[in-house]
Amino acid sequence: MSLIVQKYGGTSVGTVDRIKAVAKKVAAAHGAGDKIVVAVSAMSGETNRLIGLAREIQEEPNLREMDVLVSTGEQVTIALLCMALNEAGIEARSYTGGQVRILTDNAHGKARIQDIDGHRIQEDLDAGRVVVVAGFQGADEAGNITTLGRGGSDTTAVALAAALNADECQIYTDVDGVYTTDPRVVADARRLEKITFEEMLEMASQGSKILQIRSVEFAGKYNVPLRVMSSFEDGPGTLISLEDDDQMEKPVVSGIAFNRDEAKLTIRGIPDQPGVAYKVLGAISAANIEIDVIVQNVAKDNSASITFTVHRNDLKRATELLEKIASDLGAIEVDTDDHIVKVSIVGVGMRSHAGVAATMFESLAAEGINIQLITTSEIKITVVIEERYLELAVRALHSAFGLEQ
Ligand code: ASP
Ligand code: MG
Repeated sequence: MSLIVQKYGGTSVGTVDRIKAVAKKVAAAHGAGDKIVVAVSAMSGETNRLIGLAREIQEEPNLREMDVLVSTGEQVTIALLCMALNEAGIEARSYTGGQVRILTDNAHGKARIQDIDGHRIQEDLDAGRVVVVAGFQGADEAGNITTLGRGGSDTTAVALAAALNADECQIYTDVDGVYTTDPRVVADARRLEKITFEEMLEMASQGSKILQIRSVEFAGKYNVPLRVMSSFEDGPGTLISLEDDDQMEKPVVSGIAFNRDEAKLTIRGIPDQPGVAYKVLGAISAANIEIDVIVQNVAKDNSASITFTVHRNDLKRATELLEKIASDLGAIEVDTDDHIVKVSIVGVGMRSHAGVAATMFESLAAEGINIQLITTSEIKITVVIEERYLELAVRALHSAFGLEQ
């Protein structure tokens, strides 16, 4: 007998009919003899609707009250799902986050889970019941309702799986797994059978928006096997787990990720001295602007230049700051470009293979694509290129590394 945590997202519980369909799936797993805990999101659109109501009253509502409000969406779906299960002859019980005692810190709107008391859930499971828990929410030490940030139901599911020592955490969603790259860009992108936590983090942070990134971090930390699967069709989905050593035929590259949300800034002609990078980048991060790729160059005349990327939404603010720093440092110029994209190849197999970067650069060169920046990590190589070459680059790399079906 296994203990499985299943999570159903907003589209999977978006209508009463869909909730009934979820109940069928849960009933089937329960009928097969497994212990089932279900975490659910609010009906699709509901959280946004609630936020909209609040905004009609106040531009920036009190965060505690905001959490009381937005957590109600999930309270609706847990009750409806339990009713649908009861209707199918299955005993089920719903719990809000606070009722389970999902203890969080008190950072309203972006709370972090500190502890989960699995006692009551275990008792229900032992009595043969299905347990349905509201995703996205918990309560702080004082009993205030908190929420975990948008998409937080994924994290609830993983945290429950970790606390209950579940055999698997299954995330049911509107896609049937994680793909080698976005199928809208490469038609013959392939569903991956499995991928490691690390690879998934690299893929996700690049904008494959299947899972809340924090849930993957959590799953990796507690080694909870995560499976992404479709609510609407049967299939094995994609298993996200630790790397296994005996996978001899491990692919070198597992996927191609890309990101069109960034912009590039360059400051040229700054002194090549200790503290300069700090002056430039410290001021940007002090303004709470996240910096991604960073490259520094020193010219023969000992003047330096620093190039970095930020989210496009932050470009205007970052440029203003950089221009001020440039005049303080007597820099020659500041240059910005928001027609760039970031393309990465990701794979744990890279650790043990040479020549991966060369293959990447060769395939981009063959397409006449100029590489503006390059950065690497142990399992990822990223290039920044001109935006108009995005599709071409992703397709070329996808085939260069043999990722097609
Ligand atoms: N209902 C919340 C949201 O829309 C949490 C979730 O769906 O995971 O962000
Ligand atoms: Mg989601």
